Amino acid sequence: MQQQKVVNEINFKSFTTVHKLNNKDFDKQHIWHPYTSAIDPLPCYEVSGAEGAQIRLTSGETLIDGMSSWWAAIHGYNHPALNAAAHQQVDKFSHVMFGGLTHEPAINLCRQLLDMSPPGLERVFLADSGSVSVEVAIKMAVQYWSCQGRPEKARLIAPRNGYHGDTFAAMSVCDPVNGMHSLFSNTIAQQIFAPAPQTRFDHTFSEDDILPLEELFARHHNELAALILEPIVQGAGGMRFYHPEYLRRCRQLCDTYDVLLICDEIATGFGRTGKLFGCNHADISPDIMCLGKALTGGYMTLAATLCSEEVARGVCEGSPGVFMHGPTFMGNPLACAVAGASLALIQQQHWQKQVAAIEEQLGAELQRCNELACVADVRVLGAIGVVETKHPVDIKRLQPLFIQHGVWIRPFGKLVYIMPPYIISSRELSCLSDAIYSSLKTLYG
Ligand SMILES: *Cc1c(COP(=O)(O)O)cnc(C)c1O
Repeated sequence: MQQQKVVNEINFKSFTTVHKLNNKDFDKQHIWHPYTSAIDPLPCYEVSGAEGAQIRLTSGETLIDGMSSWWAAIHGYNHPALNAAAHQQVDKFSHVMFGGLTHEPAINLCRQLLDMSPPGLERVFLADSGSVSVEVAIKMAVQYWSCQGRPEKARLIAPRNGYHGDTFAAMSVCDPVNGMHSLFSNTIAQQIFAPAPQTRFDHTFSEDDILPLEELFARHHNELAALILEPIVQGAGGMRFYHPEYLRRCRQLCDTYDVLLICDEIATGFGRTGKLFGCNHADISPDIMCLGKALTGGYMTLAATLCSEEVARGVCEGSPGVFMHGPTFMGNPLACAVAGASLALIQQQHWQKQVAAIEEQLGAELQRCNELACVADVRVLGAIGVVETKHPVDIKRLQPLFIQHGVWIRPFGKLVYIMPPYIISSRELSCLSDAIYSSLKTLYG
């Protein structure tokens, strides 16, 4: 009895404090946001709706979206075809387990994925998020070599400045400095890092880019399961665009030294760089490919790890004869249905013209940021525009300025970057580039 009473009091107390606070204060005091402090959180803006390339705030402002909700909302928000796919599926069934059961939304999605992905990829593992798809890719590579009687091939090699997600195996191949590996050094697997490629996408390839990687392969290939990298664009690890020849040479090195190639296309996939996949710039196929972010057009979380028939068979030849992974929500039908509809939109090919137009306009409009003393570099590839500053920007001051300009742009470190929905209008895009120029000018001159 005594205990029961205490429990009730506690519940009652938390009920009142929890409901006394307005939304803003409650969010600030009780909810974690990505990479934020619980002690000194930055303000969050509450969203009431989103349509096309615009996000509406509860406070009444409408913001032009420069982020596609982190590369995902490529067709814009509240898209009729994606809405219809979700509605239709929800009325049939939202979820069933994928162990021993299958369904049309998953089958349709995987057909389309194999149809559009680089040649040689034959098997699809549906995962819950980008990070999980990277875990799955790493696990596949390690299990592959183990089942081939080469368990010593269990480490990964990756270029510095990479980003592959926040779970532990994914973190272990992220840039060790940006990813703060020092905080987790006793927990995180020790991988091998090569210098990041330096030759820019459209410059003349320098052999210096590949030499260190060649040396590391020669020295370590006996312990290497796979090379993992983001094709052409290193995203969250620095927004750097590197030369396609680097990617081709990586493919060759992997072939020469019996190392699998994992291409993490979670950010670059589905047209963002001007080609359907980053790999297409170099005409190569990886052994394993990770997809996520734009897969559902930004509607819900879903990712996929594709692999070659050789990898799939190799994994399942040895004991225990199965691939050791299977999330509860694997192949969620609702997410698959929306992803299927998103890929159908991509197959209509409008993205090609849209991305090319964004590239041209951003190329012209962001150039004037070079006039600003605080700017170190301006670069554009496909529907990605980056203004790199000389010193890290103060997001506390910059974010409210962007809001005043009616745009949603979320810089980090020295990077003010945009990757808008492909359907953005030219007028809306100009608002984004104007906002970047004027806000940086106002703050830093
Ligand atoms: C975002 C991202 C991930 C992680 O995906 P989540 O869905 O956030 O887990 C992995 N790799 C790359 C290249 C990414 O951009």
